[in-house]
Amino acid sequence: MALIVQKYGGTSVGSTGRIKNVAKRVARWQAQGHRLVVVPSAMSGETNRLIALAKEISPNPDPRELDVIASTGEQVTIGLLSMALMELGLKAKSYTGAQVKVLTDSAFTKARIISIDDERIRADLAAGYIVVVAGFQGVDENGNITTLGRGGSDTSAVALAAALKADECQIYTDVDGVYTTDPRIVPEARRLDSITFEEMLEMASLGSKVLQIRSVEFAGKYKVKLRVLSSFEEGGEGTLITFEDDIKMERPIISGIAFNRDEAKLTVLGVPDRPGIAYQILGPIADANIDVDMIIQNVGHDGMTDFSFTVNRNEYEKAKAILEQVKGHIGAREIAGDNRMAKVSVVGVGMRSHVGIASKMFRTLAEEGINIQMISTSEIKISVAIDEKYLELAVRVLHKAFELDQVGA
Ligand code: ASP
Ligand code: MG
Repeated sequence: MALIVQKYGGTSVGSTGRIKNVAKRVARWQAQGHRLVVVPSAMSGETNRLIALAKEISPNPDPRELDVIASTGEQVTIGLLSMALMELGLKAKSYTGAQVKVLTDSAFTKARIISIDDERIRADLAAGYIVVVAGFQGVDENGNITTLGRGGSDTSAVALAAALKADECQIYTDVDGVYTTDPRIVPEARRLDSITFEEMLEMASLGSKVLQIRSVEFAGKYKVKLRVLSSFEEGGEGTLITFEDDIKMERPIISGIAFNRDEAKLTVLGVPDRPGIAYQILGPIADANIDVDMIIQNVGHDGMTDFSFTVNRNEYEKAKAILEQVKGHIGAREIAGDNRMAKVSVVGVGMRSHVGIASKMFRTLAEEGINIQMISTSEIKISVAIDEKYLELAVRVLHKAFELDQVGA
């Protein structure tokens, strides 16, 4: 008998019919002798609808009130799912985040979980209840309702699994696992049986949006056994997210190709090459809360150099405006930029012990005439920034070059 936390995404609970299906599935797990805590998202589209309503009243909604509104979608699905379970003759009980007491900080719309009171849930489980907990929401120490950021019910589920020391946290979603890359771009992409936390973090932060990145960080920190599965096909194994040390078998060197379309590059040309310049350029960018990703400073010539970095495309105009001001202070010649960039990365823990991955990546792109504009690396990832128009081609050729289409790769 295991204690299992199951999270069902918005599509899985998108209609009352689907909620009844979820209830049947939960019932089957319980019939096998397991104890279940179930975390549903809001019905698909509902959170967007609620946020749009708020914006009809106030273009810049007050964050506290926005959370009061956005959190209601999950309150509906926990009630409906509990009722669907009862209709099957099972004992079920729902809780909002505040009722459980999922305590968070007060950062409305992106709150972080501080602690979870597991007492009532444990008592209910012991009494034979299936416990249904609203995802995406919590309460701060002053009793204000908070939400955890879009996609936050993944994090709710993982945090509950950690607090309850559950045997497994299962995330049911509309894909049946984590793939070597996006199958919409590469039809030969394969589902991975397992991926390590480190790789998943890279894949998640690089834009493969299967899980909210915070949930992966949380699972890594608290050693939660996490599995991504399809909510529509039953019986699949999904993808298990494992710890590197636990893996006995040989790992593929590369696990996947991740990518992100929404990149933009900014370059400050003709910068005096002296100490403090990087700080003078990037300090104001950081002060404006703009995330910088890749950074390049060229070798200086005649006391001058060029400095480039990438930001999310949404922040391009804002960053450019800041640089126009900085330009005057530091005596730079010109600001250039390109907001049609994309980033492609090969990810794999096997890189730690294998050489030649970078050269293979660069050769593969060169053979297609794709110009690499920036490069960054970590121990388990190599990323390149390229012109967005070559993104799909780059992903396809890299997927093939690293034989990710081969079973057992
Ligand atoms: N309902 C929330 C959202 O749409 C949370 C979630 O689905 O994970 O972002
Ligand atoms: Mg989601």
